[in-house]
This record gives sequence, structure tokens and C-alpha cells, in this order.
Amino acid sequence: MQKIIDDKRVLSVTEGEATRFYMGLSYNEKYKNWNLKDPMDIGKITFNSKKGLLFNNSEYNDENRKGLISRYESGKFNKEDKINSPTAGLGHEIIHAGNFLLDNANYFQRNEPFSSPNKNGFTNNEEIRTTIYLIR
Ligand SMILES: [Zn+2]
Repeated sequence: MQKIIDDKRVLSVTEGEATRFYMGLSYNEKYKNWNLKDPMDIGKITFNSKKGLLFNNSEYNDENRKGLISRYESGKFNKEDKINSPTAGLGHEIIHAGNFLLDNANYFQRNEPFSSPNKNGFTNNEEIRTTIYLIR
């Protein structure tokens, strides 16, 4: 985290519908490659301060997540249902930004999507790395 704070490049945070990190990159159709829009711009995080992340470790794919959604709509949760605060989501996205900033080549490899979510519901290696960092 200190490396992100000490870095002179800019990571902006703005209010948004979803809490999410957007790389400061643009795709060049002519050369078929990605470039920094601005060398001083890491990217931006949109942050919704009113939305946490509702989850259940045993209900991670679209099929078995229906139970969680149903309980959310009825307001009757079970003991395994959990919610992360909006700021936990912001911290998660800052870690994504740091991974992009400090380990750029591997960041793209880790973002390659799995053919289906793994047993813990992660969709790619970047999500595993970022979430494990938050748990530590
Ligand atoms: Zn993530």
C-alpha cells in the first residue's frame, strides 16, 4: 500500500454506480496494443459508498446464487450470508490498482478469465490474489 501512496502517478476515485477499478489505458486499433492514456495516470476507481458486497462462500455461481438473491429480497438471511462494507470494496479496488501499477505484465495474465468460477467463486487469478491480500 505504501508504494501506491508514494507513487507520483495519479489514481483518482470518483462516485459511481459500481465500485470498480478502470486502468488508465486506451486500445490502439491501428497497432493492436494498449497504451497509457497519460503516463502520469494510473486510472480511476468508481466508488459507490452505499453498496456493500453480499456473498455466501457456498453460493458463488449463478445457479446456486439464486438462494442468496431470494433471501436478500425477502430480508431473511442465514448464518453463512455475509456482507462486506463499501469501504472494504474500495480497499479491494485499490489493491487491483496497485497490482496493475507494480506488477503490470503479470496483472494482465492474472486477469485471464477462468472457463468457470473455481471452488471459492473466483473468476480469475487477479481476484484470488487481491482477495487473499485483503484477508491477510
Ligand atoms: Zn476484484
